[in-house]
Amino acid sequence: MVLPYTHEPLTDFTNEDNRQAFKEALKKVAGELGKSYPLIIGGEKMTTEDQLISYNPAKKDQVIGKVSKATKAHVDQAMKVAQEAFGEWRTWAPEVRADILFRTAAIVRRRKHEISAWMVYEAGKPWGQADADTAEGIDFLEYYGRQMLELAKGKKVNDRVGENNQFIYQPMGVGVTIPPWNFPFAIMLGTTVAPVVCGNTVLLKPAESTPVIAYKMMEILEEAGLPKGVVNYIPGEPTEIGDYLVDHAQTRFVNFTGSRATGVRIYERAAKVQSGQTFLKTVVAEMGGKDTIIVDKEADLDLAADAIVHSAFGFSGQKCSACSRAVIHEAVYNEVLEKAIELAKQLVVDDPTKDPYMGPVINQKQFDKIKDYIEIGKQEGELKLGGTTDDSEGYFVHPTIFADVAPDARIMQEEIFGPVVAFAKAKDFDALLSIANNTEYGLTGAVISNNREHLNRARTEFHVGNLYFNRGCTAAIVGYHPFGGFKMSGTDSKAGGPDYLLNFMEAKTISEML
Ligand code: GLU
Repeated sequence: MVLPYTHEPLTDFTNEDNRQAFKEALKKVAGELGKSYPLIIGGEKMTTEDQLISYNPAKKDQVIGKVSKATKAHVDQAMKVAQEAFGEWRTWAPEVRADILFRTAAIVRRRKHEISAWMVYEAGKPWGQADADTAEGIDFLEYYGRQMLELAKGKKVNDRVGENNQFIYQPMGVGVTIPPWNFPFAIMLGTTVAPVVCGNTVLLKPAESTPVIAYKMMEILEEAGLPKGVVNYIPGEPTEIGDYLVDHAQTRFVNFTGSRATGVRIYERAAKVQSGQTFLKTVVAEMGGKDTIIVDKEADLDLAADAIVHSAFGFSGQKCSACSRAVIHEAVYNEVLEKAIELAKQLVVDDPTKDPYMGPVINQKQFDKIKDYIEIGKQEGELKLGGTTDDSEGYFVHPTIFADVAPDARIMQEEIFGPVVAFAKAKDFDALLSIANNTEYGLTGAVISNNREHLNRARTEFHVGNLYFNRGCTAAIVGYHPFGGFKMSGTDSKAGGPDYLLNFMEAKTISEML
């Protein structure tokens, strides 16, 4: 019997036993750093001379692992193997496919701290963030497994006298999954297993910054009994294999999460029908955000400051859901700003193995980009906190708050993907909403207000895919807060929601005259 879905609880790190267990996991993983990892195509492990090196963002020279790099020839080979595997995998009963996800979840649960520890080293995630990432991975497995069981029943359509009608879902074919580095376990896993549980097969190109944690998933999927060739692990340079994967005439769908520039590129390229292609490609693209927390005149101001600070600085703002704009009613602006500064001052930035609030940002490129935006911010607003960085050992950026920023300033418009938040003032609720909507993105947003009428207006007038009331704008939970955005944030796929699997299925009508 499959128990009803509930989300995986987070580890309580105030408990000393849990802290000890996590420290042991960190120690274990530290002893495994620096190894080499092969490609996995059709279950076969292949080593290439050319390797992708994954480094610890908190200790720039520490190698997490060296991963073989796929070439175009490997992509062709993986595509062939995945096509063959699709023929077989699609015939496995949905219940059996779902069971593999449930078993995978059980293995992940048993190895939870170890997986989180890999993320501490490879992605620079502080303990709590790494633990939440692993928990979300478990949630995707448990949730999508159950969703498949539901969808397998098909949906009701009408019969007529002498006519029997059926409406069923079937898998699509071979797809490509291109996940991000910021949820290197949860999103990588979720965007891979969702199409897979539907009966599709996948070529997985993990993020260049976090390929080792993706390899760990491959080991677990193998242990759980996923047949060979259903998921093929092909890390590589985007410049070498990225377009090639998307353009391939046999790529039926692309499941992408990452930057807006790459998402738009994929969307455009996938639209072109290649020679020999016999279908239109499906693209799921979850891209950036420029997410706003609105604070109304009648609001709990402590709650507002807390929501802004944790949504802006959790995992150093490296979430597409992160709050990078705080838009506040002028009557409470100064008070909220002061409270937020006081809270943010207390946040500790350090090596993530030491369990600070914030670790480093992911790499030199992001570090430089954030630094540039801090300089831009100094021209566009008043620097109230932070603005300081240190890349002597790792890529550390301190929590940074700018005040009195104009709605059309660059730091109010462009995605920074770092711990930088801009505060702007507005004279009434109309202005709060209009500034909030004044962005090309539409992913998350929050309204802190005790005014029921204003909350009701936000339901229709605040144009974001995930709208939150009286809480922060990050930390969507699978099965509770289906996730995905409007506008240039993407295709609104709603990961972790009841419609997500439909992105990877074809609906078929069968009508029989009796
Ligand atoms: N689902 C995550 C959240 O709600 C964000 C995902 C992302 O950054 O890609 O915070």
